[in-house]
Amino acid sequence: MKAGVLALQGDVEEHGEAFRRAAGELGVSLEVVYVKRPAQLKEVDVLAIPGGESTTIGVLAKRAGLLEPLRDAVKSGLPTLGTCAGAVLMSSDVVDAVVGRTDQPLLGVLEAAVVRNAFGRQRESFEADLQLEDFGQVRAVFIRAPAFVKTWGGAKPLGPLPHGRYGTVYAAVVQRHMVATAFHPELSTTAFHRLMLEIARR
Ligand code: GLN
Repeated sequence: MKAGVLALQGDVEEHGEAFRRAAGELGVSLEVVYVKRPAQLKEVDVLAIPGGESTTIGVLAKRAGLLEPLRDAVKSGLPTLGTCAGAVLMSSDVVDAVVGRTDQPLLGVLEAAVVRNAFGRQRESFEADLQLEDFGQVRAVFIRAPAFVKTWGGAKPLGPLPHGRYGTVYAAVVQRHMVATAFHPELSTTAFHRLMLEIARR
């Protein structure tokens, strides 16, 4: 099996490692492909879009001619995990907690609305143990994390968290072959990468 990691900016290596560990646990033979060109999308069975800075990743993807091919690949069923900035990119509606509308390039494949930097600045980063349906207890690392504030259509929100400004927000969203997390599972668990490999194997 081949697992792609969008390799334009962010914690790319960590996703490669998480896929390798997950494959080891499942006994699947796996090659990791660091995706920088549209043609590479055709080779992969599953994809991760890492955390980092979502505007930067979106702008670089556009510049590399990857934005449209990425959107098409995900829409046509490529199992895709987006974490933090990757989750922002996958969402359909994005505002920043401080500056409001960002008009950044998005994939818009997930039926979810997200607030960037919803928990404040870098120093407000935190870890929490979350009880997530389908995943059990997960140690979640939030780094200048976004929060899901709304989902519709086929998207299912997971991990409700109380939020002073937005009421109840969610830590993750699952929609068919797509999983998006506000936190960084690649840093603390293989559960999400394992699920993605399992979806790709079906
Ligand atoms: N705050 C970043 C953004 O909105 C995401 C941070 C992260 O990926 N750790 O792009």
